[in-house]
Parts: sequence; structure tokens; C-alpha cells
Amino acid sequence: MRSDLSGIPEYVPGKSEEEIKKTYGLDRVVKLASNENPYGCSPKALEALNRFKKLSAYPPKDSEELRERIADYVGFDADMIFISAGLDGVLECAFKLLVEPGDEVCFALPTFPYYSILSKIYRAREVKVKRNENFKMAGYSDKAKLTIVCSPNNPTGNVEDYNFIREIVESVDGYVFIDEAYAEFTEKNLTKLAENENVIVGRTFSKAFGLANLRLGYAIMHPSLRKAFMKVNSPFPVSSLAVEAGIAALEDVEWMRKVVDAMKRDREWLFGRLRKLVRPHRSEANFLYVETEMDGKSIVQGLEERGVIVRSLHGFEEAKSNAFRVTVGKREENEIFLDALEDLLCSQ
Ligand SMILES: *Cc1c(COP(=O)(O)O)cnc(C)c1O
Repeated sequence: MRSDLSGIPEYVPGKSEEEIKKTYGLDRVVKLASNENPYGCSPKALEALNRFKKLSAYPPKDSEELRERIADYVGFDADMIFISAGLDGVLECAFKLLVEPGDEVCFALPTFPYYSILSKIYRAREVKVKRNENFKMAGYSDKAKLTIVCSPNNPTGNVEDYNFIREIVESVDGYVFIDEAYAEFTEKNLTKLAENENVIVGRTFSKAFGLANLRLGYAIMHPSLRKAFMKVNSPFPVSSLAVEAGIAALEDVEWMRKVVDAMKRDREWLFGRLRKLVRPHRSEANFLYVETEMDGKSIVQGLEERGVIVRSLHGFEEAKSNAFRVTVGKREENEIFLDALEDLLCSQ
């Protein structure tokens, strides 16, 4: 094995309901740990999955139809749409194609841990910049081969200013990957920057569309860059099941907009309620970054004992030790979470 990889952490996802039920002998567990869609997915997507029967055939390398649907949805041409196995798959393709050992990869902490894991796997030099008091990126490196901008940022929920990211795009020698996994939850997206030849805007069906289990992601990029990305895509990155469900989900964008509106209303409601107990930060995504007077680990464990799973920020470098991340669930789930949190704080 490569000795330089022996020290890297494995990506640790949020804990599962089953795990917590078993550990604490609970009947009811509410999971608000992985930014999943509490409403599931569009019934049209489920119907498409039920219709699909031909599992013995390999999927096509690329789906023209899905690319055209995505193109209509985001307002770019189909020759600018690249599809892969989740946004994670798109990110890995960016590293495969762009990052040579010793190249700088720049991102601001705290952020999605997979950027750092990929940097280590591809032997990049990580340039970790700070965030200001509003969690916006406080700098960049103009020598970076790849700059990764997460907006809205996971786990802090804030967006970046368009003009600052445009400055980065215009100043750096390399490429800028804008991770917009949560784009549907904000009006302030940076998608227009995909017009630049050195920009990749990554999106996913996992969050707003509620199809996380299908592993379907895409990116918007210049047509010539897309051609290069196709060379490093794995042979059959997405199943036909995912493609058909993705097409059906885009035929029913109204469903997505309806549940996203509900989640945005509940996000503001939850923020207001949390503010009476702890220190939540404003968010443009489907989760909240919450600071408390307690250690984040004790909060996470105390909530798990009470049947609520939130995300520990243990694997998120530079996240505050008193912080945790909670996904906005359905109203009744948010109420169960608030009751558990209140009970935990009172028992201290
Ligand atoms: C959830 C998430 C992803 C992963 O998306 P997939 O399409 O499920 O791979 C990527 N980036 C960020 C910031 C995320 O929160």
C-alpha cells in the first residue's frame, strides 16, 4: 500500500437509524445527519424506477436525453453538461484530469471533507485558507491548479459573494470547481460563472431531488473541458436506473420546488426556535450550523441517546469544537429534535 495514504481518514458518513436504535435500544429514531430530503423523491421518479426492468445490460456511456433535460433545467447547452456517479464522482474526475503530484489545491476550512481526502490521494499540496466571521472565503492562491469553492458551504450553510469568486476565476492560473450541491436551496447561486473556460460547476440529484441513493451528479463546464472530462470518467459511471429516475425527476421539477419551499420555511422556523436555546447560524442550504456552550461531541451523543441523529463535525477540519450540523427535516422531526435538545441542555 502507499505509505502516504496510511494516515488519511476514511470518509465517515452520518450515523444510520439502525445503528442508533440498536446501540440505545430505541424504537423511534429521527435522522437529521446527512442532509437527505425528508420528503423522499418525486413519485414520477419512483414510477420510472418501477418501470425499469433491463438489469442485465450495461448502461450507455452517456445519456444524451438526460444531458438535454439537465441543460434545460440549468439554462446551459447540453454540450456543457457532464454526468457522473454523484457530485463526488464529478469531483474525483476533476482531480484525475487536473491535479498532478505537487500541484496546489486550494479550499477554505471548514468545508466538505472529501476535498482534502482527494487532495491527499492525488498527492496535491493543500492550501487551506481561512474564512471570515461570516464564513466567507478570506483568501485564495493564484498559483492553485484547482480552487474548490463550496457555496452554499457544507457545514456552515453560507454562500460566497459572486464578485469575489469571479475575481478568483479571473486571477488564478488554474481551474475553479464550484460545488453547488445545495444550489436549489438559495437564490444566490454562482452558476453563471460556468461560462468561463476554467470553471466547473458541480450539482447533484442527491439533495433537493431526494435521489441520494442513486448516485447521480453532474457538472456544467466549457464544451472542450467536457470532452477532456469524458476521458477520465469511469466506463459506466451511472446506471440506467439513475438516468431514468433523473429524467423523470426533471419532468416533475414542480415537486422539487414545492418541497424545497417547505424546507426553506422550516429552516427559518427552526433557526428562530434554536436561537432561543443555542447559537445557530443563518443558512442558505437545507441544514444549520449550530454552536453551543457544550462540546459538540457531548451534544451529538446526548441527542443520539434521545433518538435524534445530528452530524458530528469531528471529521470537518477547523469546525468549532462546540458546533454540530443539523439537517432541516419535516416540521414534526424538527420538533422532536428541539425537544431532545432542550431536554439535554436542561440536564446539564
Ligand atoms: C452531499 C454533498 C456532495 C455529494 O453529493 P453526491 O452527488 O451525493 O455525491 C458533494 N458536495 C457537497 C458539499 C455535499 O454536501
